[in-house]
Amino acid sequence: MDDRIHSSLSLQLRMVKKRRNNGRSKHNCGHTKNVRCNNCSRCVAKDKAVKRFIVRNIVDAASLRDMADASVYKSYEIPKVYYKQFWCVSCAIHHRIVRVRSSEGRRERMRPRRRFTRQQKK
Ligand SMILES: [Zn+2]
Repeated sequence: MDDRIHSSLSLQLRMVKKRRNNGRSKHNCGHTKNVRCNNCSRCVAKDKAVKRFIVRNIVDAASLRDMADASVYKSYEIPKVYYKQFWCVSCAIHHRIVRVRSSEGRRERMRPRRRFTRQQKK
């Protein structure tokens, strides 16, 4: 019995910890609900899933101008679509929402830089 405890303890000491938070943000919660991946419907814990809140115009930028020209109203703001996406880790990497980082880069806990600056409203 004593031997077994000792061997499991030494195994734990030898094992590598890849990420400080074990790839999750479940800080002191015992359990988190599962969500389904946007792409493959895989069950993934909500705190582990890659989450993106997307705000997009209903029409794309190219036809926005055509719509404005055809519209009678001078200042009509075209509604936007709001939705939240959840991705499993494999799909998030496949779709390049997140990237694989080097073992040193993984330790870096700074917030990622914004890829584009938000346009100023006229
Ligand atoms: Zn998936």
